[in-house]
Amino acid sequence: MNQILIIEDEERISSFLEKGLSSNGFTTSVAATGKDGLEFARGGVFDLVILDIGLPDISGFEVLEELRRGDTATPVIILTARDGVIDTVSGLEGGADDYVTKPFRFEELLARVRVRLREDRVPETTLLKAGDCSLDLRTRRLARGEKTMELSAREFALAELFFRHPGQVLTREQILSNVWGYDYDPGSNVVDVYVGYLRKKLGSDAITTVRGTGYRLTDGHPS
Ligand code: CA
Repeated sequence: MNQILIIEDEERISSFLEKGLSSNGFTTSVAATGKDGLEFARGGVFDLVILDIGLPDISGFEVLEELRRGDTATPVIILTARDGVIDTVSGLEGGADDYVTKPFRFEELLARVRVRLREDRVPETTLLKAGDCSLDLRTRRLARGEKTMELSAREFALAELFFRHPGQVLTREQILSNVWGYDYDPGSNVVDVYVGYLRKKLGSDAITTVRGTGYRLTDGHPS
């Protein structure tokens, strides 16, 4: 199991990251200051570090510099504000492997994490199946039986989440934070709207409403 260290002072972002990463099988530790982050990094074995640049005590760059003094191998992904592109370039020169600009979608970050940990992973299949439905991650097409369908970017992100958890109930909150990110209003009905779009494409029986909880993509077995 991969251990990820999150160094981020903003609690809503670190808990968003923790939730998302742990539901994807990663183990996480969170440090809210640069100094704590360095202490954690020195005291534990981490496969990857997610590092915020704007920290309350020392900046993410200083953390990175300090980190790289003793350890050059652990991948580091930095989180940076959208207007911090110049900073980002110096971050990459300073030994970061990748960066994600805030605000970001969870799936976007997860993809970067997976790329950085790729060496340890078995090659990933590009075709996800659930019952007689499938999602091709390479072509981004959805299929049921003989019928193939195109998806918008958001529909694809939602479909990917369902196809990675077939037969499992996903709550609206899980779906919102995975597909829309932490900046989304929890009272919004976008989830229902987009589930509706997928149903229109896959057939209404493909995604079941679990009353009061959320939605489930059928895996072909009676639920
Ligand atoms: Ca910050």
